[in-house]
Amino acid sequence: MATVSDVPDEPGQPPALTALSLAEISQESKTKEQVITPFDVSGGVDEHGKAVAIDYDKLIDHFGSQRIDKSMLERFERLTGKPPHRLLRRGLVFSHRDLNLILDKYEKGIPFFLYTGRGPSSGSMHVGHSVPFEFTKFVGTPSTCTQRVTANKSNRRYLQDAFNVPLIIMLTDDEKFLHSPKLSLKDCRKFALENALDIIAIGFDPAKTFIFADTEFIYGGHGAAFGYNILEIGKKTTNNQIKGTFGFNDTYVVFFWHTTHYDVNWSVTYQVNSNNILEFAFPATQSATSFATSFPFIFGSNTKIVSKIPCLIPCAIDQDPYFRQCRDNAPRLGLVKPALIHTVFLPSLRGSESKMSASDTESSIYLSDTDNQIKKKIGKAFSGGQDTRELQEQIGGRTAVDVPFQYLTFFLESDEDLESMRERYEKGQMQSGEMKAAATKELQAYVAAFRERRKAVTTEIRDEFMRPRQLVFKSMPPEKEQ
Ligand code: ATP
Repeated sequence: MATVSDVPDEPGQPPALTALSLAEISQESKTKEQVITPFDVSGGVDEHGKAVAIDYDKLIDHFGSQRIDKSMLERFERLTGKPPHRLLRRGLVFSHRDLNLILDKYEKGIPFFLYTGRGPSSGSMHVGHSVPFEFTKFVGTPSTCTQRVTANKSNRRYLQDAFNVPLIIMLTDDEKFLHSPKLSLKDCRKFALENALDIIAIGFDPAKTFIFADTEFIYGGHGAAFGYNILEIGKKTTNNQIKGTFGFNDTYVVFFWHTTHYDVNWSVTYQVNSNNILEFAFPATQSATSFATSFPFIFGSNTKIVSKIPCLIPCAIDQDPYFRQCRDNAPRLGLVKPALIHTVFLPSLRGSESKMSASDTESSIYLSDTDNQIKKKIGKAFSGGQDTRELQEQIGGRTAVDVPFQYLTFFLESDEDLESMRERYEKGQMQSGEMKAAATKELQAYVAAFRERRKAVTTEIRDEFMRPRQLVFKSMPPEKEQ
């Protein structure tokens, strides 16, 4: 029987060569395909020039991943003895690669590890960034709504607790520096350390969690000054310069991809080549964390055993291109392909055709926002309600595009409350102001609880999480049982 591993992985795209940047310069048609890469997230534009919501079904087909279906949820519950997290039961964690293989191994008692991360592009993270972390390890969001579900406290802790496995969190401050024209290396390093405090406040087990920032872990120690110079020089060196000097030729893939989708033109090719050389190299850095052999202080140095420890990566689906490429290359290195579990995006305040992003401050609710800021931001969020009270009562609102309702689907624990709001809103029995008030209350409660936990996270605690050390995990069974 074919498995997910048999599906050929497609290579990712280099940063500047995204369909969004290409489509933007195409004058011929208003229609733009949706684009989901680590650098662009957009639902695209229809023939009338109107932005459309991200189509996740289409994305699964395009990326060649697998939908998480009911039987997978049941298996999850059976194996972990925990009810599915609300993100799973609502289809917000919707797609995977090889999750079935991870569960097979878990059933046989073979340990695996979790890997997730953050590209530190701002001092405070936004609530969208907390989604993969919340799913990885859940620590209480007090629900503020009536009929609060209190019975199922057991699902307040997730992947790390459910599977009781080590977790590695990578802060890609090198990549944010290399990719952003505005951010200095100092900014990115500072953001990484601040973001680590935020991440710890979401709630992870220190005995099982190692957090690292690339600039310290890869380029640090006695080699720090040397490593930082590599980053500074590398950022200034373009792919074109290297090609001109050394005669390297790497544009074949660029032309190939380009001509299959759009007309080739020189300005686009020039943009592609203006990426600096280290951006081209970064996917190897992001991939290396998928392999237990990268961390001998955690897993030991017996390569024969350690190379068999599989990795599960919870992330939003924009990160998939990195790991498609990584999965292509892993078997050639004698290593296990990492498995993935994908979440949808928490939408931008502007609408569900794009994600909340730190690069666009108007799109985001930050974990550092005050109650008042949250209220103001949600007050201005895109609503699927009608323009007048009367119309709303007659026609009802559209929950599918209503940003406050979408936020409730991520953060409100009670399925009953959510369903009741959906029904009343769509039937016109609830006004958009009420929906906004409900979302405001929930987000304020979420951020307030985070704020309290964040106060307790000291730099000493952070140092301990970031100290390379052995983590607690179950050892591999003897070879014949694997
Ligand atoms: P930003 O543009 O906000 O800096 P990013 O894509 O650069 O966002 P990263 O820090 O690189 O964010 O991403 C860290 C993790 O958070 C990844 O798994 C990413 O997919 C996820 N993520 C980022 N934004 C969202 C969002 N709006 N909803 C859900 N997950 C998100």
